[in-house]
Amino acid sequence: MRCPFCGAEDTKVVDSRLYGDGDQVRRRRRCIVCAERFTTYEKPELELPRVIKRDGSRVPFDGRKLRSGLMRAVEKRPVSADQIEAVIARIGRRLQATGASEVHSREIGEFLMDELRGLDQVAYVRFASVYRKFEDVEAFREEIERLERQPSPEVKRAQLDLLSVLESK
Ligand SMILES: [Zn+2]
Repeated sequence: MRCPFCGAEDTKVVDSRLYGDGDQVRRRRRCIVCAERFTTYEKPELELPRVIKRDGSRVPFDGRKLRSGLMRAVEKRPVSADQIEAVIARIGRRLQATGASEVHSREIGEFLMDELRGLDQVAYVRFASVYRKFEDVEAFREEIERLERQPSPEVKRAQLDLLSVLESK
């Protein structure tokens, strides 16, 4: 790496250590020509696909946009910061797992809806109503009814508890 002080091409790494959560490497370097020292940080570049927007334009995947959409949906809902980060990490892994170089923004929206459905139903309906731009009140009502037929995570857990009690007898 070129020295930022004198522009010399040869710099020497004098120290390397893990940084952050251990997902980065911090290196101390010394310029062989002017002897100035400086620090560089190295982290893996995650190969996330580019996003194809509705108008057909391509943009780099932006985790901050995903996070702000998610934050809006879970506002004033009992969803912890850890849960939010876990959702973002899972969506990132799903995107990588597609192996695609480009992905439609619609697919990311579907991934997020999958996550919200299991996390918090109010947040899910909030997001889905904006995201799917329900064309009329009827479509929105159908979605609510579908949700009501589908047991919430709390109900499912209670059912499982009940089942385990019954089975242990
Ligand atoms: Zn130098």
